[in-house]
Amino acid sequence: TLLQVSPLLPGLERALADRYPTVRLHELPDPAAYLRDHGGTVTAAVTSARTGVGDALMDALPRLGAIVHFGVGHETTDVVRARARGIDVATTPDVLTDCVADLAVGGLIDSMRRLSAADRYVRAGGWTAAPFPLATRVSGKRVGILGLGRIGRAVARRLEGFGTQVSYCSRTPVPGVPYRYLPTAEALAAACDALVVTVAGGAATGGLVSAAVLDALGPAGHLVNVARGSVVDEPALVTALRTGRIAGAALDVFADEPHVPRELLESDRVVLLPHIASATHETREAMADLVLRNVERFMTEGVLLTPVPASAH
Ligand code: NDP
Repeated sequence: TLLQVSPLLPGLERALADRYPTVRLHELPDPAAYLRDHGGTVTAAVTSARTGVGDALMDALPRLGAIVHFGVGHETTDVVRARARGIDVATTPDVLTDCVADLAVGGLIDSMRRLSAADRYVRAGGWTAAPFPLATRVSGKRVGILGLGRIGRAVARRLEGFGTQVSYCSRTPVPGVPYRYLPTAEALAAACDALVVTVAGGAATGGLVSAAVLDALGPAGHLVNVARGSVVDEPALVTALRTGRIAGAALDVFADEPHVPRELLESDRVVLLPHIASATHETREAMADLVLRNVERFMTEGVLLTPVPASAH
């Protein structure tokens, strides 16, 4: 049996159900009873990156051999624990990189040039009373990329077109890139006008963008987060925006989605997006196709097409 753990795109759900005996766990009236009586029949699970496969569910599936995530994040599944059980985990890398990078650059421009705020200003009739306040130039600025992986590199490539000076921080320097490496998030923030967060989520990066990092970014600095809400100390960010310790932010991800702190909702200094960085027809279809191809490869050959590399955890 293929176990579908969470809702997916309707077309993907249909394709999975057409090809494999599929059970949608989230639609069952009593999922616990199903797992107790039939958990031993499940050999593969498909789930959203947001939901993953938690420890209790993994334990209820003794013959599970593969977990396929719709999305590139995998912090919702304990990959080390899965591997120890002989379960391989796949995600959908690369196919979403361009759209996420596009959105990060859009958020950066919005925050620095205050596009959303200016739109609100026009709609509220402010323009008839006074010109909109001056914003901050983007071209030629110093931008820091926190996590120079697939998405971070795609953001950096786009920013080269704006004549920006790109620096980055990861646990290890990336060979062969023309960008300056800084060893800590704080050093990176201190050396740039805007910080774009593209690191992996999970416990290792929890609160990486701390109050100290925001202070290092400084009162003229902008923060863009398209990674995971957990990476930023959200209460510290709320305080930094309220007290002017940073200038602005563009956020696609939050600590407790879909709940956004009231102070952020009320702030004119922050661009708020509902976790849409990969949410285009083209990219979501490509992600669905890659999920299908992973499941097919596992069902026919017992291996996954795009497994999470051992180095990623
Ligand atoms: P990659 O694995 O290619 O890149 C992750 C980067 O994070 C690497 O540069 C890695 O470098 C760095 N990193 C990992 N752990 C740490 C750490 N503890 N400290 C500092 N740097 C670290 O992933 P992608 O670029 O494909 O995706 C990045 C993230 O973007 C995903 O994990 C996901 O959470 C998020 N995402 C968000 C989306 C959205 O809708 N907003 C959509 C898609 C992805 P190193 O290992 O050298 O440290």
